[in-house]
Amino acid sequence: MKDSFSKRYTPKKLLREELDIDKKNQEVGRTYLETVKNRGDRPKGMRYFEEIVSDTKFVEKLKDEGKPIVGVLCNIVPREIISAAGAIPLRLCSGSPPAVEVGEGVLPRDVCPLVKSTMGMQIAQAKLHQVCDLLIIPATCDGKKKTASLLNAYLPTWVMEIPQDKDYLKNRDLWVKEVKSLIARLRKFTGNFAGKTELTKIIKEYRHQVDIAREFHSFRGGKPELLSEMDYLLVMQAAFILSPALWSEKVSQLLEDLKKQKSPANNKKRILLAGSPVIWPNYKIVQLLEESGAEIVADTLCSGTESLFNPAEVDEWTYAGMLRAIALKYLFPSICPCFVEGEDRIDRILELRQKFKIDGVIFHTLRLCTVFDIENQLIFKVLSEKGLPYLNIYTDYSQEDREQIRTRIEAFLEMLE
Ligand code: SF4
Ligand code: SF4
Repeated sequence: MKDSFSKRYTPKKLLREELDIDKKNQEVGRTYLETVKNRGDRPKGMRYFEEIVSDTKFVEKLKDEGKPIVGVLCNIVPREIISAAGAIPLRLCSGSPPAVEVGEGVLPRDVCPLVKSTMGMQIAQAKLHQVCDLLIIPATCDGKKKTASLLNAYLPTWVMEIPQDKDYLKNRDLWVKEVKSLIARLRKFTGNFAGKTELTKIIKEYRHQVDIAREFHSFRGGKPELLSEMDYLLVMQAAFILSPALWSEKVSQLLEDLKKQKSPANNKKRILLAGSPVIWPNYKIVQLLEESGAEIVADTLCSGTESLFNPAEVDEWTYAGMLRAIALKYLFPSICPCFVEGEDRIDRILELRQKFKIDGVIFHTLRLCTVFDIENQLIFKVLSEKGLPYLNIYTDYSQEDREQIRTRIEAFLEMLE
């Protein structure tokens, strides 16, 4: 599957041992985890999620299941379809700062850190990438689209085309057709695709996962003092790796434990975190907010709440009806900024403001992420009109701007007082 274009961009002789990216990621992650581990009231169940995300042992064990492993980027490739083809989906969007440097070996500097980091993880043969047999990348933004051709030098990499806007009548059939063509390719790749009974079971498992995720989200939003946002993100990002059934079981247990815990009252400012994804092990923005005394009560991140927010709404339990429901779930309710429309993202922020009594919004814009940068301006205008205080933080995966960001956050929190 290697084409000459991607071969030209493949760095020579970068060995996994030399780079040891998994170890470096653990070291970066540790600096954030120390903050949450020092909280005396951290639920014991968090240890499990921390290990799933920070340790590579679980990922290595996935290979023992004997199923093909399919790495995906973003929130748009239908995971139910991968499971129905008898494969295991793994989300690979990376927050690794050390991998950014590796990615810069083949990508221009002026590409967003998420894309450079994901490319770097592949070059450095991080375990998450090493176990994959296939990659599926949606053509969301230019960085992802072009990186797909480079990733193809390492692993078979398919690109999923996505409609540019969410006009239902114009794009419904186009998108369903794209998902059906993915099914045909996957069936050929794995030699397998679920029949009606198995597909029904898969949809129900994923729906149950969304139900649990929504309960978890609502509960934590009501009592954010019980669980740090860093821990919340660890739980949500464990779903990038765990099967929906196992994730649901473990989160249900965690919820039970949290419900028994007493909630210490505090009068911290209630913040909504929006914008570009915050992904393990780069929890810089969250750590700075929490250290500055803010309580993050909700988010609209595709690496957080939005990753498990929409269920497949099946109208008819026929085979075609089920496939259509899976496809539609990933497109029309999505608030990813790669679509032309941005109003639904603003509506979600306003809905969350109401539900969780938000005092202010922090918008996290990853450097060189044009789609979020443009949205930032639009959102700022609307939220100003609605009287909701707003601060944009433009940053990357480095540590250099830490103190500068801290000062801006502190000034923002003071202003909210
Ligand atoms: S915001 Fe959209 S394009 Fe960007 S990483 Fe998330 S799902 Fe992908
Ligand atoms: S949407 Fe933005 S953050 Fe996500 S991959 Fe594209 S440029 Fe990077």
